Amino acid sequence: MKITDVRTAVVEANYDWTFTRIYTDEGITGLGESFLAPGLTAIIADLKPLLVGEDPRNVDKLFSKMRWAASGAGSMGGIVYNAISGIEAALWDVVGKFYGMPIHNLLGGKYRDEVRIYADCHAGEALEALDSVMVARHPRWLPEAEKSAIASEINHPVHGRAFGEAATDEVFTPEMYASRAREVADMGFTAMKFDLDVPNPYTKDTHSGTLTHAEVKFMAALVEGVREAVGDAVDIAFDLHWRYNVSDAERLACELEPYGLMWLEDPVPPENIEAMRRVTQSTKTPISSGENYYMRYGFREALEKGALDIIAPDLQKTGGLLEGRKIADMADAHYVAVAPHCIASPVGTIASAHVCAAIPNFLALEWHGMSVPFWEDMVVGFDGPIIKDGYIKVPEAPGLGVDLNEEVAREYARPGEPFFGE
Ligand code: MG
Repeated sequence: MKITDVRTAVVEANYDWTFTRIYTDEGITGLGESFLAPGLTAIIADLKPLLVGEDPRNVDKLFSKMRWAASGAGSMGGIVYNAISGIEAALWDVVGKFYGMPIHNLLGGKYRDEVRIYADCHAGEALEALDSVMVARHPRWLPEAEKSAIASEINHPVHGRAFGEAATDEVFTPEMYASRAREVADMGFTAMKFDLDVPNPYTKDTHSGTLTHAEVKFMAALVEGVREAVGDAVDIAFDLHWRYNVSDAERLACELEPYGLMWLEDPVPPENIEAMRRVTQSTKTPISSGENYYMRYGFREALEKGALDIIAPDLQKTGGLLEGRKIADMADAHYVAVAPHCIASPVGTIASAHVCAAIPNFLALEWHGMSVPFWEDMVVGFDGPIIKDGYIKVPEAPGLGVDLNEEVAREYARPGEPFFGE
């Protein structure tokens, strides 16, 4: 079997869902999804000559071929791997279809039939739609009336160390968090995550990475609202998006100890493992990070130094599905759990679910699609709703087990991007 072509399509959802399809001379095609990045489809197109003519079954060798080719331009991680991850996942879809096996079988078989999902929640109702540099935008398909709901965030980076001053006029309260938490628990989820670095009435300086006592108390009140709403049967996590300095992150993490968090995510910037280790060692609140780390090498030091309690690789970004298995194995040697980050469409989410089924040390997989009205409609071939009572039943059909719903994908396709060569 030989690869004959590699094509992409982009759907404009809450993020740009970027799909790669691999074509072969056997008539088998494979579908993968990449985490968004500036210039992503151009990178995938540049990688195509490395793949055409190759046997798609040599997935690990092809991963290495792309890796070392990209290293020539200086890449030891970064967005080239977002491209490689989508291609790698598409290769596994081809291989699974060829051998008549679901991807999880190719990764060692499954530990579990159903994968626990944690819902990423916003307290507000509005769709959060972000472009490849995390600036809020109005998707082409959004009704005019709903556009105003995110208008105030336009041109303000939403994530990152410094959110724009007055980036949103939405004031969050513990009651709003509690009400959303109850709603999500009623949908059957046993785990959920909220942003905690939301606009805080006591914040005077969003650039400093510092927290005043009043800010810490405000954040603790939001956490308390969620915990009281869902009780002890639901696991709750909170994300800080790399925003704070070490001592204020420690202070906040210790303040949150009574609420028994599943984890507190990215309290400090991700590059300094020693700083992360200090935060982690200072508190009983489990600390998680990993969506910025690429491949095993990106996680090695943090694991060796005990800098993280939970790791959160993004399988559409870190290097692909087999790399995810390898990262999980390395974490397992340090008795560390894996809770993959995921902002993907059902294509990437189900690919991630295959990995989550195949690793022992799995905690929960993220679902970031609650605000996207067509999330469930993006694929065909799944039996019933994809997420049911907070779990995904891992598909048993060959390969990924689902295919893109091209009609729906075309409807929401990003203007200016090719749609599988059209
Ligand atoms: Mg995060």
